[in-house]
Amino acid sequence: MLRTTTASMWASSARILRQPLSSTTTRFSRTAAVSSLSASTRLFSVSAAASSPPPPPQHYNSTNNAAAPRHPRVLVTGSLGQLGSGLVKELRSMYGNENVVASDIRKAPEEFMASGPFVYADVMNYSMLERIVVDWRIDWVVHYSALLSAVAEKNPALALSVNMTGFQNMLELAKVHRLRLYSPSTIGAFGPSTPKDNTPDLTIMRPNTIYGITKLHNELLGEYYREKFGVDFRSARYPGILSADTPPGGGTTDYAVDIFHHAIRTGHYDCFLSKDTRLPMMYLSDCIKGTVDHLTYPTPLPQSVYNIAACSFTPAELTAEIQKHLPHFTISYPDAARPDFRQAIADSWPGSLDDSMARRDFGWKEEFGMERMVKLMLDKIQAQVNAEKKVASSTVTNGPAAMAA
Ligand code: NAD
Repeated sequence: MLRTTTASMWASSARILRQPLSSTTTRFSRTAAVSSLSASTRLFSVSAAASSPPPPPQHYNSTNNAAAPRHPRVLVTGSLGQLGSGLVKELRSMYGNENVVASDIRKAPEEFMASGPFVYADVMNYSMLERIVVDWRIDWVVHYSALLSAVAEKNPALALSVNMTGFQNMLELAKVHRLRLYSPSTIGAFGPSTPKDNTPDLTIMRPNTIYGITKLHNELLGEYYREKFGVDFRSARYPGILSADTPPGGGTTDYAVDIFHHAIRTGHYDCFLSKDTRLPMMYLSDCIKGTVDHLTYPTPLPQSVYNIAACSFTPAELTAEIQKHLPHFTISYPDAARPDFRQAIADSWPGSLDDSMARRDFGWKEEFGMERMVKLMLDKIQAQVNAEKKVASSTVTNGPAAMAA
């Protein structure tokens, strides 16, 4: 049986772990780190390395019985993004807090830190990643670190590094340490010459965005490593993901989240896409469920990469659905002569996906269609706004004036 740990213990062990990792990166030479890597690994970015080990993580088997059955230990990269925190929560509820190591390059909120181990991990740094895999005896990796479409288009060089070098590092580690690697792809991996409707898994793929190019590269490289080295590489092409609790990370489908906040807060939204731009979408909990089912499927599946989808709609259709709940909600669209830069990205993506292979092979099935999703998004954001108002009014009531009275 694994040792049960308290939230505070994890918070402190994560703090201890992070200190040496970050402080040692400046103290140790690149040469020493690189010398232990294979020739092929040297191709990948190794910007720093650490040689003085941090205290061992408190995750060993308390019965000291190595044969005792145990849950997989999972590392999640980019865990503070729109999708990561929900997935970490779900995996921790399945495998125990101590078995899911969250990581990112940003500071985690206190609450997140307290729920289980969190470490700094720059995916461009092979040695740092390898050290985490070894120290924490990682079995599976969910690789979420990436620059999304709109952000990537503004900084192609960084997108190439984070999306491709980061993935190459993870894939090489999966080979060396026999890890299962789940790394999502995207509808952005298709391109303008891909058939637009009911797009199948296997089709023409000639993306013309840097995001799409990096993701298609990853799909193909993952398949190559699976064929050549037996790496258990798994990937799903996510559509646009909607969530009320976590902000989107700079993608072309972000409008479908922003619109709800504006509908509730101001009653009007300036959409950056044209009203007839149809894109595939999914609610966050479906994405997490599909990811977990895919990740945990006991044997490698017939394909490495699958389409998954839930519904498709245009901004005009989404607006009409929101107006059923908020009849006074209004929307405006960009001047067709001066489109937003994200319009060209959206125009290069499919309008709907054929995900029948995922349904057949690992039982993918969504719970939320557009109507249920719209109702839930509105309810959740309304609840957030009500809570904010309550805090604001109690601040006024209990503020200096009230105290003076
Ligand atoms: P996000 O942008 O919200 O989060 C990405 C995280 O990666 C951030 O927390 C960021 O700090 C981290 N990161 C950036 N550079 C890093 C580095 N050098 N090292 C380590 N971490 C770094 O993204 P998301 O929406 O949570 O997406 C997760 C995955 O799902 C990505 O691979 C993305 O391409 C894919 N995806 C997302 C959507 C969507 O709608 N959100 C759709 C399709 C595919």
